[in-house]
Amino acid sequence: MAAYRRFRNVVRMGPVKVATYYDGRGRDKHTAACATPGCGFSTEHDDRSAAELTARTHRCKA
Ligand SMILES: [Zn+2]
Repeated sequence: MAAYRRFRNVVRMGPVKVATYYDGRGRDKHTAACATPGCGFSTEHDDRSAAELTARTHRCKA
């Protein structure tokens, strides 16, 4: 069963989107995911700043 994730504070940095979501266990998590078809890049972080840094420094291979 896939956990339903409610994303908030979604921002776009180039091709990458950064969002914050509640992990269902009392913590906020942060994700950076590339929206370019065929890239498939995505990461998860405990810190929003880390997710934003990852998004900023992503070099798209697609
Ligand atoms: Zn990419």
